[in-house]
Amino acid sequence: MQERSEPRGSSHRGDNSHPGNHSPLKDIVLIGGGHSHAAMLQMWAKNPLRGARLTLVSPQSHTTYSDMLPGMIAGHYRDSEIHIDLQRLCHVAGARFIRACAHHIDLEQKKVALLGQADLAFDLLSLDVGASSDRSISGSELAIPVKPVGQFHRHWEQLKQQIDDSYRPLRLGVIGGGVGGCELAMAMAWALEEQVSSGRVEIHLIQAGRKLPPNYPLLARRLVARELSRLKVHVHRNCRVCEITRQGIHSDEGQFLPLDNVMLCTSVSAPPWLQQSGLSLDARGFVRVDPYMRAVDNPLIFATGDVASLCTRPVAKASLHALQQGRVLYRNLRATLEKKPLKPYRPRWLSPHLLSCGAKRAIFTGSPFAAIGATLWHWKDRRNRKFLASLNNLVAATTDKTYSLTERLREDHWRRYPGDPEHTGQREQVLRDVDVSRDTAK
Ligand SMILES: Cc1cc2nc3c(=O)[nH]c(=O)nc-3n(C[C@H](O)[C@H](O)[C@H](O)COP(=O)(O)OP(=O)(O)OC[C@H]3O[C@@H](n4cnc5c(N)ncnc54)[C@H](O)[C@@H]3O)c2cc1C
Repeated sequence: MQERSEPRGSSHRGDNSHPGNHSPLKDIVLIGGGHSHAAMLQMWAKNPLRGARLTLVSPQSHTTYSDMLPGMIAGHYRDSEIHIDLQRLCHVAGARFIRACAHHIDLEQKKVALLGQADLAFDLLSLDVGASSDRSISGSELAIPVKPVGQFHRHWEQLKQQIDDSYRPLRLGVIGGGVGGCELAMAMAWALEEQVSSGRVEIHLIQAGRKLPPNYPLLARRLVARELSRLKVHVHRNCRVCEITRQGIHSDEGQFLPLDNVMLCTSVSAPPWLQQSGLSLDARGFVRVDPYMRAVDNPLIFATGDVASLCTRPVAKASLHALQQGRVLYRNLRATLEKKPLKPYRPRWLSPHLLSCGAKRAIFTGSPFAAIGATLWHWKDRRNRKFLASLNNLVAATTDKTYSLTERLREDHWRRYPGDPEHTGQREQVLRDVDVSRDTAK
């Protein structure tokens, strides 16, 4: 972890902005260790750009790979098996890792304010800070939000402990019948199979509309309904929740459903601190971006993943898109610095999807076709594990390249300030910055 020693209010840029310097290091700052930035760092590790310094700011050194979260809830994976090791990835990519939380962007000064750390100056900034469960339902502070997904796991572990420690009946509710809500309800039903079969624990899935999941074709919806019923999940359609209380939930049509614990898997909302950033935001507070994933009103700011709102067409908030956008981001950050043409992000119209069904079974849908089976789950499992391994095992494959990048930065600096005592302190700072990921990686 990088500790910052600068006083609050000062900003840190290293020493790359010396006036006599013909090719100063450009600072690319990545805020948030989401799926997009992980994909971007992976590409950077394979082919870094000379003359640019990359910094990742993330409150955690590991990020959850959401596609595997339902599998972990169901008990198929350990917690440690579904994480991307961000700090290690930074180390391989020759990037700095700063454990911190951003809370403000000063567009004029080109600085990001970090909680408890000195401000961070940037030449290019990218936001991949995800989204949170929407808390607009009255009483939603009583519910467990599924987002951020990393925190949900802790809540789930506590809940399981509570179920193991007591023999009293329990009614669990999942509000939101999207893909995430269906996966979550089935994963919970599978993990608590014994208690659900005996009737001690009930799982309720509450959906505002009739379709479940709403964006799935008919055949896939039928398969989802069959699996939910097989796992004894109680489904409530056309039930728009308007209030959550300690006793249960109320719908806008006056229905009351008694529940002991409620999980929120409804639509998502943007981080509130972006409201003060001066960036152009959509109606829900997400950053409006052009097809190149740049903020529509500032070509130096990029946004990807759930926090981005593509102005050309709506894109589902899904890791699939976040990962693809991360690859486009890599190309476009480079292209901006190299003054080359940028590449647009073209979301696929038909995105085949695999939905986990609690047990080691999955539903494949690629409209209008759908299929279900254990083979599909194993396919998804293999694909996910391979993807995580490609990120987490990158160290061995590219270590030499990382160190050669480090060495190049050292050489650049010594060439610019040969024996100049005025810059000795700055030089030491650069060397510390460059080395920090190597020093702190596990
Ligand atoms: C149960 C469930 C299952 C899902 N399954 C799938 C699936 O199978 N396929 C699929 O495509 N999608 C799936 N999704 C959707 C998927 O989770 C999201 O679309 C995806 O996580 C978005 O990734 P992201 O890169 O936008 O950000 P995230 O992965 O959400 O990461 C954001 C990161 O930013 C960090 N951050 C937040 N605020 C700050 C700050 N102020 N400063 C610094 N860092 C910050 C957070 O700590 C976090 O690490 C699922 C979602 C759920 C809830």
